[in-house]
Amino acid sequence: MSPSRIGRKHIHIRGIVQGVGFRPFVYNLAQKLQLSGYVLNSAAGVVIEIEGEDARLDRFVEQVHADAPPLALIEDVAVIGLAPAGYDGFVIRESVDEPGKLAPVSPDVSTCDDCMRDFRNAGNRRYGYPFTNCTNCGPRYTITRKVPYDRPLTTMACFPMCARCLAEYEDPTDRRFHAQPNACPECGPSLSLAPSDNLGDTPEFGSRLPAIRETRRLLRAGRILAIKGLGGFHLACDPANDEAVRLLRERKKRSDKPFALMVPDIMAAERICVVSDASRAALLSARRPIVILPRRPDAPITAELAPRNNTIGVMLPYTPLHYLLFSDSLDHPPEFQSLVMTSGNISEEPIVTGNREAAQRLSRIADAFLFHNRDIHTRVDDSVVRVFEERERVLRRSRGYAPFPIALNFPVGEILACGAELKNAFCLTKDHHAFLSQHIGDLENYETLRFYQETLDRMKELFRISPATVAYDLHPMYLSTKLALEMNGVEKIGVQHHHAHIASCMAENGIRDKVIGVAFDGTGFGTDGKIWGGEFLVADFSGFERRAHLRYMALAGGDTAVREPWRLGLSYLLDAFGSRATSLEIPLFREVPAKKVATVRSMIERGFNTVQTSACGRLFDAVASIAGVRHEVNFEAQAAIELEMSAHAGVDAEYLFDVSAGDPWQIDLRPAIEAIVKDVLAQRPVGHISAAFHNTVASIVIEVSERIRATESINRVCLSGGTFQNLYLLERSVMGLRRKGFEVSLHAKIPPNDGGIALGQAVIANAALSRYPA
Ligand SMILES: [Zn+2]
Ligand SMILES: [Zn+2]
Repeated sequence: MSPSRIGRKHIHIRGIVQGVGFRPFVYNLAQKLQLSGYVLNSAAGVVIEIEGEDARLDRFVEQVHADAPPLALIEDVAVIGLAPAGYDGFVIRESVDEPGKLAPVSPDVSTCDDCMRDFRNAGNRRYGYPFTNCTNCGPRYTITRKVPYDRPLTTMACFPMCARCLAEYEDPTDRRFHAQPNACPECGPSLSLAPSDNLGDTPEFGSRLPAIRETRRLLRAGRILAIKGLGGFHLACDPANDEAVRLLRERKKRSDKPFALMVPDIMAAERICVVSDASRAALLSARRPIVILPRRPDAPITAELAPRNNTIGVMLPYTPLHYLLFSDSLDHPPEFQSLVMTSGNISEEPIVTGNREAAQRLSRIADAFLFHNRDIHTRVDDSVVRVFEERERVLRRSRGYAPFPIALNFPVGEILACGAELKNAFCLTKDHHAFLSQHIGDLENYETLRFYQETLDRMKELFRISPATVAYDLHPMYLSTKLALEMNGVEKIGVQHHHAHIASCMAENGIRDKVIGVAFDGTGFGTDGKIWGGEFLVADFSGFERRAHLRYMALAGGDTAVREPWRLGLSYLLDAFGSRATSLEIPLFREVPAKKVATVRSMIERGFNTVQTSACGRLFDAVASIAGVRHEVNFEAQAAIELEMSAHAGVDAEYLFDVSAGDPWQIDLRPAIEAIVKDVLAQRPVGHISAAFHNTVASIVIEVSERIRATESINRVCLSGGTFQNLYLLERSVMGLRRKGFEVSLHAKIPPNDGGIALGQAVIANAALSRYPA
């Protein structure tokens, strides 16, 4: 063996390496390998200088990558060899800031097993402490004010650590070494419970178990509690109490929209829902999303939670405080098998975060407030996912996911993509990253718009992005579009809605070649000024051709037509049956007042206050109404969801449709509408009609894709748009396409609905920039 030589290496690690226990890990690794030098957080990642025997240095570089902490995501390790500097020992140095450099911030992480042990152990000083955390878990994005991620730059700055916490924080061998939110009952945040009619100016913080026990007592008594959590307030009540659920619905103005449940453990989830292996993994993941699961027919919960819906959204506790809502400790069985935990907001406004804000905005909904005094700097809702083909599919991307970047397989400029109107999320890009914001919500009120602007300002600062280019939706009335058009000193690029849907699916799947894009949703502004949404595109990032679409139908009365699906039913009936339509003896004409029908009929016939639409969501509305499922809705896509829920399994029947020649092809559903009416008149069960209709739409997806393949030689199909949240349709379409030899790409990391559209806008704008460089 040759005598070992001494060397020095400068290592720069980029990725999610801050707030995930990376520096302690590096410190311990250096100690183990008897190397000297230092590690520090910089705004651009983690910088290490390491000195010692060459062989040990090599092992260090190997292990720093291979054994990184579970929450770290290493993107790049740059190593430079240097002459030895004579370091004495290994230290963690002060953080340095490098303006302009990118340092991803970790999303919030649910309580880890080690912290749960501390929290459950009666002999531990953190026994029952609701804010227990360590370098492997706890709040991150929600408390970060600025980068680099260090306690003074978080909302923990106002809690000086006690001697014992500080000792942990400074001990490189401790799990809480440099855990920025580190806290204990002596020095950290605390709770306070206050009734809504006596909130006082400054609630008194401090009480712990008494506040929690009183909270549980109130919940058991049927009260509604506003509970401050990680990214905002929840509204909670006992789902076994019909009256409490009804009251919450009424006060929250939430009509029929489903409520999510929190359950104490996985067994409780299994008593309510059918939990597959992949769903279990999603429920138990450190991100702790709400998972949409099939509800058991014998589930011990009231149907009021999700009316006419056979699925339910369930999540597990993700902070110690949540565990306390169920019981003091493991020795006590949970007092609730589940709790309603819905976003603390009124109707469609953003989730409430501040104590004073909560007192103002939620006191008419909640009977009492469980506050804490750790400020939530960034508002983040619960994320919502579902499993399809044993893979987690994100439907609402927020807590635990944001602001984790989507990796792109090509470089991008600094771009802001403003997103759409409903379920808005925007996107900032830089290097190979797309930073999709957390779920912002429907940009329809002032509060949501403020949330949008505030989050945009913060993300630009956190990720050091100064967009010179802004991408926006073509819809002139979207607030996100208006915002984009008002910006000065930036290049503005309008992107067609469905092109953006398909590009987002391509980008998250790493596809850059032309695809057949099927974009089905409820609405999107077309390049001809009409409302699209049943589109077959041949597309890549640089452009698209519209090859086929559902025939245009009259949408009479603008937004009212979206709230009243029968108006679309009438459009489709008039289109198929002409003037005979209104004399058909179907539920629509029995259940909707004749006068209203006559008014809308004349609007359609005269083209008054009417726009043309090819939206697939509106086709579902029409069929839901014609089949008698529902004629009016009180939340987005309600009719389509209930139509899907009613579909019988095992039906192979389908209805006919035509594809007419021309450019683009028109998909003509008149034969299907005639056959559906015939089935309704023959009193065939709604479940059969619904299934046959779903089968028809799947056949449209497959047959039209085949026709496009015949002329274009493109074998990949991307499915995107909110309509593909319909599992029956998705499953049937995917299976049929694969049987015909297509390669099918779907969404997983970002939502198929408008929550994912900003990513598509960004990559399309980026392609436009590289074609026409400034
Ligand atoms: Zn922990
Ligand atoms: Zn302490």
